Amino acid sequence: MTKQTLSFQAEVAQLLHLVTHSLYSNKEIFLRELISNASDACDKLRFEAINDGGLYENDSELKVKVTFDKDAKTLTITDNGIGMSTQEAIDHLGTIAKSGTKDFVSKLSGDQKADSQLIGQFGVGFYSGFIVADKITVESRRAGMKVEEGVRWISGGAGNFEVEAITRPERGTSVILHLNDDAQDYASAWKVKGIINKYSDHISLPILMEKEEWKDGELINPSDEQGGRQPGGMVKTGEWETVNKANAIWARAKKDISQDEYNEFYKQISHDFEAPLAHTHNRVEGSTEYTQLLYIPGKAPMDLYNREKSAGVKLYVKRVFIMDDAEALLPTYLRFVKGVVDSSDLPLNVSRELLQESRDVKAIREGCTKRVLGMLEDLAKNDKLPEAAAPTEGVTDVVSAQDKAEAQANAGKYTKFYNEFGAVLKEGLGEDYANKDRIAKLLRFASSTTDTASVSFADYKARMKEGQEAIYFITADNAAAAKNSPQLEVFKKKGIEVLLMTDRVDEWALNYLQDFDGTPLQSVAKGAVDLGKLQDEAEKKAAEEAAETFKPMLAMLKEALKDKAEDVRVTTRLVDSPACLVVQDHGMSTQLARMLKQAGQAAPDMKPVLEVNAEHPLVKKLDGSVHFNDLAHILFDQALLAEGGLPADPAAYVKRVNALLV
Ligand code: ADP
Ligand code: MG
Repeated sequence: MTKQTLSFQAEVAQLLHLVTHSLYSNKEIFLRELISNASDACDKLRFEAINDGGLYENDSELKVKVTFDKDAKTLTITDNGIGMSTQEAIDHLGTIAKSGTKDFVSKLSGDQKADSQLIGQFGVGFYSGFIVADKITVESRRAGMKVEEGVRWISGGAGNFEVEAITRPERGTSVILHLNDDAQDYASAWKVKGIINKYSDHISLPILMEKEEWKDGELINPSDEQGGRQPGGMVKTGEWETVNKANAIWARAKKDISQDEYNEFYKQISHDFEAPLAHTHNRVEGSTEYTQLLYIPGKAPMDLYNREKSAGVKLYVKRVFIMDDAEALLPTYLRFVKGVVDSSDLPLNVSRELLQESRDVKAIREGCTKRVLGMLEDLAKNDKLPEAAAPTEGVTDVVSAQDKAEAQANAGKYTKFYNEFGAVLKEGLGEDYANKDRIAKLLRFASSTTDTASVSFADYKARMKEGQEAIYFITADNAAAAKNSPQLEVFKKKGIEVLLMTDRVDEWALNYLQDFDGTPLQSVAKGAVDLGKLQDEAEKKAAEEAAETFKPMLAMLKEALKDKAEDVRVTTRLVDSPACLVVQDHGMSTQLARMLKQAGQAAPDMKPVLEVNAEHPLVKKLDGSVHFNDLAHILFDQALLAEGGLPADPAAYVKRVNALLV
């Protein structure tokens, strides 16, 4: 066969033009693309050799070699993978086979600026070599073909390319980049090594470079290796060294990876010194294929609450590093998770924008979310040591020492997790509708009748009183304020447990959870208190009578407080306190409104309802008092103080109290 000149497919020519004109600000990606192709070629050979071992031609150590020649101005990437026949070189390097890329090219508008934004979303692959090279020579021989059946492919990246037959003893492919004037620094070991470390460390093949040493160079300035040596320069030693780590832990089989190795990898990617609480490692097959290795850290970072700076999952495509902090791979409320997702379906040049829209990414996100929730469920399940069963006669203890040690090691992990990340997990109630119920099961709270802060909704339900129809909770700034809130009085008296919610996000998050497992959630600070069946007939009757006789007084209070209170009513929820504030059923709590205002956000100006305890001496004193007006305002302001608020006019409040004291 003699030399033939062929034209690129029209789309290729278009793509080439775009690549060379728009990716110059991100030049170094070419190396990632070419190494990835070399790695793919080795994967393909490995696959074909399963059925035909002869393809290895007695050389089964697959590898990539990167060499450069400063004088010839070339950089060469060589692999001993599957190689290409002449026809394959023509087809694969002269046309675009992938439908995705074809679609993409057909969308090009010709408007340089718009097009260059588009290109970030597609893999540019082999053609990215033309970012740094004004000519590319490819020499290849397909595994199993004769030595004389090699091919040389040459192109300047314009409209056409040349192919000719060559004799090539080695199987595989060499891509020789003839570096253009702006890309001469890629003919240097430290530059190339740097790029390989950045993008290709986890390629499972070894990437080899020839060792260099200084020739007659005197070290003038030891702190400056590059500039400190004199002429003679770096010379090749003929020895080869592996410059990547060549170890993608997530691509290995689970059973071959020790706990220590998992922990070490976590520390490397998270910069954490402590071991993680848990990990999950899975290969997911199906319509979207990917591998996930995800970790739950033991400690929250300083900026956990910053929803902007989120995500700790790195994205790889076929073991080639694509980006850090790929926030599209997990919902924001799981931003504490660290790890790696390696997809085989995404293009190498995928951008953040594309990630947001990709259907594959959506499937990956759902899969990762499920796995993380599963990990948390396991931690929660094993948080407490199983109670030792009383020994039964005739039955031997089947729990092995190993199981016991494992139980010991897992105990307390969920508590640790929850103390660090519980508040963030709660955001999921509002953010992840599909998994709301699973998240709700993972939540833990303090409660009015226990000392631990680890009550789950399920624990609570199991302890509910007969006739109790709701899960009661109260939100407050802190545990003490919650525990001593006047709204809790009647619940305390009746021995009904109330969950104390003191995280800032609680009220917002709880808005999204109307019920747990069929039982409605009820804030004790919202709406009129309705204890339903928990209240006996006598109590109900007494309350109704009190309300009736108190009516004229209520009218007067309403009038006196019309600027402050939406309504005034008699309540049965108070025992020791004279009054408290509640909000209408669907209103925002006064506490949340206060929080929003502090954060400089708009909060609806809602007036609360004042509820009074008709049995309280202070309230009784109102009747016919000459200080009626002052007492009414004091009643209101104290109710506000009791829940951690401040009277609108503190000075007026003090004046009124002092007047009475005197
Ligand atoms: P992709 O890798 O996504 O298929 P590329 O543009 O990177 O797209 O490569 C185009 C094709 O060229 C590859 O699919 C492969 O068939 C062929 N090719 C590229 N590099 C090599 C190589 N080093 N060895 C064998 N075939 C290769
Ligand atoms: Mg490729």
